[in-house]
Amino acid sequence: MAKLSPYFREEHESFRRSVRSFVEKEMVPNADQWEREGIFPRGLFTRVGELGYLGVRHPAEYGGSDLDFTYTAILCEELVQCGSVGTAVNLMVQCELATSIVTALGTEEQKQRFLPDAIAGRKIFALGISEPSAGSDVAALRTTARLEGDEYVIDGSKIFITNGTRADFILLAVRTGGEGGSGISTIVCPTDIAGFSVGRKLEKMGNHAGDTAELFFDGCRVPRANLLGSEGDGFKAIMHLFQGERLVLSALACGLMTQLYRLAYEYGSGRNIFGKPIIDFQVWRHRLADLEVLIEASRQLTYSAAYLLSHGEAAGREVSIAKLFTAGAVKRVADEALQIHGGYGYMEDYLVCRLYRDVAAFTIGAGSSEVMREIIAKMATAR
Ligand SMILES: Cc1cc2nc3c(=O)[nH]c(=O)nc-3n(C[C@H](O)[C@H](O)[C@H](O)COP(=O)(O)OP(=O)(O)OC[C@H]3O[C@@H](n4cnc5c(N)ncnc54)[C@H](O)[C@@H]3O)c2cc1C
Repeated sequence: MAKLSPYFREEHESFRRSVRSFVEKEMVPNADQWEREGIFPRGLFTRVGELGYLGVRHPAEYGGSDLDFTYTAILCEELVQCGSVGTAVNLMVQCELATSIVTALGTEEQKQRFLPDAIAGRKIFALGISEPSAGSDVAALRTTARLEGDEYVIDGSKIFITNGTRADFILLAVRTGGEGGSGISTIVCPTDIAGFSVGRKLEKMGNHAGDTAELFFDGCRVPRANLLGSEGDGFKAIMHLFQGERLVLSALACGLMTQLYRLAYEYGSGRNIFGKPIIDFQVWRHRLADLEVLIEASRQLTYSAAYLLSHGEAAGREVSIAKLFTAGAVKRVADEALQIHGGYGYMEDYLVCRLYRDVAAFTIGAGSSEVMREIIAKMATAR
C-alpha cells in the first residue's frame, strides 16, 4: 500500500506497477547484453510504443495518453531500474525531448505526419541542438538553414546526439536569421536525404547501450513544411523544452538513487567484516541514513516541480533546483554505494561499477550544474 502522497493517486501507482512489471520481465534480463553490445535493439522502441510509454504526455488523437508530467517522472524512475541507464535515457529522448516541440509548435498536419510514428516507436527521433562550439550557450549555434523556394538548405554539424546513429528524424535547432537566440528556428530533418551523414558513434564513459553520435549536414534539402512554428520561434521553444528535459534527468536520477541504495544495502547486509555485517557499523548506518535523506529530498523536489509543470505553472526555478540537487545527489549516492562494496565495487561484475560511470553525465547533460546555478541565482526568491 503506497503512502499518502500529495502528488500521486492510485492511478499513478497502477501506472508505476505496469512499468515496473515490464522493466522486470523484458528489460532487466537483457540489459547486460545491450550494454556489452553497445546498443539496445531497435525493436524496443516499438515494444515500448505498443505499451503507450512513448506518448505519455502527447495528445490522444496522435496515439498519446494525454497524461501529465507526474506520469513521466514515474516512467523515468522505473525505466532506469533496468540496469542500463543508456537505454532508459535514449527511450526518454524519444518520449519527451525530441517530440515535445512537435506537440507544442507543430501544425495539425505536422502532428499527424510525425507524432503517430514517434509515439508508436515505428520511427526513431533525436534532438539535435548541441554543436562543437555551442553546448551550454545554445544561442551561439551555427548550423544554418537557408530558404530556397520551398526548401530549407541545411549546412553544419551537431555533436553528442542521443539516438543519433539510427534516428529517422532529427528535431534540429538551426539558424535561419541573424545572431543570438532570435535567429534560431526548429525544423524536423529526415535522415534519408542527400547531404546527411552520421559521423562517429561516440565512445562514451558510460551509458553504453544508448548510442550518441556526431551528425553532419551538407546542403541537406528539407521541405519548408517541416519548419515548426515561425522562423525565430526556436530559442523560446527550446528553453521551454529544457524544463521537461531537466525534469526527466531529475526523475531518472531519483530512480537510480533508489537502485544504488538497494545495491548498497543488500551488499552491506550480506558481507561480514570484523565479525559483523558492514551495515551494522554505525558509520555505515549513518551514511545510509544520509543517503535516505538525499533520496527523499530529491524526490520531493522532483515531484513538486513535476506537479507545477503539470498544472501549467512557470517552474523554471523549481526545475533548475531539482536538476541541480538530484544531479549532485546521484553522484554522491553512487560514490557511497561503490565504497560499501570495497574492491568488488570496482569490478565490472558488479552493477554498481557500471552505474558509477553512468551517473557522471548527470551534472553535464540537460544543462550543467553551473548553468543551473546561474538560473537559480537570477530567479532567487529568498533574498
Ligand atoms: C551523454 C550525453 C548525451 C547528450 N545528448 C544530447 C542530445 O541528444 N542532443 C543535444 O543537443 N545535446 C546532447 N548532449 C549535449 C549536452 O547538452 C551538452 O554536453 C551540455 O549542454 C554542455 O555543453 P558542452 O558539452 O558543450 O559544454 P560547455 O558548454 O563547453 O561547458 C563546459 C563546462 O563549462 C562550465 N560552464 C558552462 N556554462 C557555464 C556558466 N554559465 N558559468 C560557469 N561555468 C559554466 C560547466 O562546468 C560545463 O560543464 C549530450 C551530452 C551528453 C554527455
